[in-house]
Amino acid sequence: MHNPEEVSLIKGEKNKMVKICSNHQYYKVPLIYTYAWNNYEYWCPFCGCHEGMLGAGDDVDDTEELKKRGKSYEKATEEYLHARSTLICSETKWEEKWIKPSELPEAEKKRLFELQDSWKLNRKVEEIK
Ligand SMILES: [Zn+2]
Repeated sequence: MHNPEEVSLIKGEKNKMVKICSNHQYYKVPLIYTYAWNNYEYWCPFCGCHEGMLGAGDDVDDTEELKKRGKSYEKATEEYLHARSTLICSETKWEEKWIKPSELPEAEKKRLFELQDSWKLNRKVEEIK
């Protein structure tokens, strides 16, 4: 049994909220929830600010434009964030074994470090090719 609020959410009647970065109102960017940095769960792919779970960003209505922008940023930063989180995690899976990131083969470490350096800030996702 669902309560009325859940039902309206399921039906998509109620506007959902989204957290956007509070640093640049002229270009609203949904914060990305990620484990790529210790202790900061929210990251802005535009200005690079990190925020913890509590009090991160501004909650605004999730518009079609923000949804689209958020999805585009998530897609564009996927490899970058994966590389970062692999390099800072305590253990990662490699060839069916759990190892420390420092024990990864040199070539893989190099690849991850290159990906880690690949993300450039201050780019609107609509302008990224
Ligand atoms: Zn920002």
